[in-house]
Amino acid sequence: MSFNLLSSNWVPIQHQGRYQKIGLQQLLCGEVDGELCLPRDDMELACLQLLCAITQVLFTPKDKKELGRFVQQPLTSESYAEACKDKLDWFDLNHPQTPFMQIRGVNAKEPTCMDKLLAGVADGTNKAFVNPPGLGDALCGGCAAIALFNVANNAPSMGGGFKGSLRGSTPITVLIKGKNLRQTLWLNVLTAESAESAMPWYQETKGQRPNYIDTIKAEQKIPASSIGLNRGLLWQPAHFELLPVEDMATCSCCGCEEPVYQGFKKAKFNYSVEGVWPHPLSSRIFAVKKGEKEEKFPSFTTTAPTWTHLSKLVVDQLDDKQGQQAAPVLQQARTFMAADKIQLIVGGYRNNQATVLERRHELFSLAHGWAEHGLVIHKIIEGGLAYKTALRKALYLFAVGVKDKVHGSGVNLCDPVEANYYQQTENLLHQTFAGVNFAEPDSTLQVLNRKLRAAALDLFEQATEPYRQEPKMLKALALARRSLHKSLNELEPQGVNP
Ligand SMILES: [Zn+2]
Repeated sequence: MSFNLLSSNWVPIQHQGRYQKIGLQQLLCGEVDGELCLPRDDMELACLQLLCAITQVLFTPKDKKELGRFVQQPLTSESYAEACKDKLDWFDLNHPQTPFMQIRGVNAKEPTCMDKLLAGVADGTNKAFVNPPGLGDALCGGCAAIALFNVANNAPSMGGGFKGSLRGSTPITVLIKGKNLRQTLWLNVLTAESAESAMPWYQETKGQRPNYIDTIKAEQKIPASSIGLNRGLLWQPAHFELLPVEDMATCSCCGCEEPVYQGFKKAKFNYSVEGVWPHPLSSRIFAVKKGEKEEKFPSFTTTAPTWTHLSKLVVDQLDDKQGQQAAPVLQQARTFMAADKIQLIVGGYRNNQATVLERRHELFSLAHGWAEHGLVIHKIIEGGLAYKTALRKALYLFAVGVKDKVHGSGVNLCDPVEANYYQQTENLLHQTFAGVNFAEPDSTLQVLNRKLRAAALDLFEQATEPYRQEPKMLKALALARRSLHKSLNELEPQGVNP
C-alpha cells in the first residue's frame, strides 16, 4: 500500500477552527488554506521544512520572475501532476525498493520504538514535563515521514556511530514567512540562479537523486561540493527502515486514526562528507585559521535567547579572520523583498551530544530596511547584551567582593538574574526589530537603551532586596551598586541622568 507525500493527504492544517489533513497539491494549487497544526513545535517546523524541500525538488523556478509568479498565483493541477510524474518514487513511504528517507534490508536484531524518531522524547530524564507520556508509540504515515526528515536534518544523531545531518548536530534553521502557507513554501525555494550562486556545482549535479535511492558506499569520502541541491535537501545520513505499516490506530503525535508504524530498524553506516554543504535554510559562520577557511552552521549552544543570534542569521560580514553569511533563501530575499518588512521563522534544538535540552521555534519580524542596515541589527543586539553584562558584572562583585578590601556576600545571583533579564526584555527586543526605522535608528536605539537600563536597575534592586538588612553584606551591596551605575553610565555617553 503506497503512502506518497505527493498524493496522500498528510499535511495537518487548521483553518477557521477546522482541522483537516490535506495534500500538497491542494496547498500549492490554492484549493485549501490554513496554518500548519501539529502538537509539537519541532514537528511543525520540520513539516514546513519538508514541504519546502519537496516544493524545491518539484519546481525550481528559473529566475526571480518565475518565482514571483509562483508566489502570486496558485499552480494548475496539470502543472502539479507534470512536475510529480518522474518523482513519485522518491516520496513513497512504503515503496518496495526506494521508500522515502529509508533503505530496504536494514539489518537490525531488534526493532527500535518510534519514540526514538521524535527528538528529545526517549533520551532525556526530565522530558515528562515537556512531552506527554506515550508520545511516539505509533505514528501515522505523515508524522512518520516528518519525523524521519526531522531526525535526518535537525536532530542530534542517534549517537554511538550513527552519522548526524549534513549540517552537523543541531543547526539553526531560518525560514521566511509569507502571507499564507502556500506563499511561505515558495519564499523558501531557491531559483536556479540563486542555487547556482550558493553552490556553483548546481547545474552539473541537478540530475542527482537522493542518497536513499542512489546509495553511497560504506567508508566513502564525499566532497560536499559533489552533492546537488535535491540530494542535499533530502540527505538521509543514517540507515533506517520502517517496519511494515499496521492497522488503524491513534497516531501518538497528531492524534488521527490512521494506519500506523510501530517501530523501525536502524543500522550503523559509516562515511564522511568533506567540507560544508551550503544548506538553503541555514546561515554559516567562518573562521580563518592558518589561512584555511573553516565553516560551520550556528546552533543554540547556550540558554541565551534567539534574538542574540539574529545578526548571524541575517547579516553578512567577512573580514580576514572571520565572517558570517545569511542563509541562501535570505540572500535571495534581499534581492526582491528588501523594500518590505520580513517575517522569519527561526528554530532548532539545543543539545548536549545526543540529548536534546531545549526546542525553539520562534517568529521574528524585521522592519522595512532590514536588508541594507545590518549594522543596526548588530547595534540592537549589542545593546541588549551590554546591559545584561553590566548587570552580571555588578552581581558578581556582590558575590565575591574585592580581595582584601570588600568582603563578598557569597550569594551568587548572576545566573538567575540573567535569566530574568532575558525573559523581561524579550518582547522589547522583538518590538524593536519589528518597529525600528532602519534608515534613522537613533531615537529607537535611545528608547531601547533607556528601557534596558531601567530593566537592569529594577532587576538589581529586586534581586538584592532580601540582603539589604544583612550588615555583613552592606559593603558588597554598595560596591555592586556603584559598579552597576558606572557601567550603565558608560553605556550612555550622552550623560542621561541615572
Ligand atoms: Zn500522525
